[in-house]
Amino acid sequence: MGWPITELRLAFAWTCDACGRDNFERGVHRELTAEQLRDRYADAPVDVVTGHELTPPGRVACPHCGAVFKAVTMGQDLGHDSA
Ligand SMILES: [Zn+2]
Repeated sequence: MGWPITELRLAFAWTCDACGRDNFERGVHRELTAEQLRDRYADAPVDVVTGHELTPPGRVACPHCGAVFKAVTMGQDLGHDSA
């Protein structure tokens, strides 16, 4: 008799700058058309092309302290003023 099975989903992790707690957000999942796949992943290895796309939420709220942030992904411009 084996253990019950659960399905893992991809998620986005972030740390709240207000209270320091780690949080996880579900991504926005959508299925891509064949044309969208060709446009976006023409140079990608075949094994990474699944027909599904997971995008991060644009805004997150900390469930611990209620602070709200604009969400950007790693390497994306943080939007700080340079002046
Ligand atoms: Zn917080």
